[in-house]
Amino acid sequence: MAKDAADPRVCPTCGDPLTFEILDDERFLVAWSCLNCGLVRATEPT
Ligand SMILES: [Zn+2]
Repeated sequence: MAKDAADPRVCPTCGDPLTFEILDDERFLVAWSCLNCGLVRATEPT
């Protein structure tokens, strides 16, 4: 199956740009959310 390069700023489900929200400034924990389909994903540095 074709797979585009992983871009954390693009929704993997619908392809819309994600908006991010900083959850924890010290640990740089960020939640990415899609306003179109409601997908939410969190990223951590390690
Ligand atoms: Zn989406």
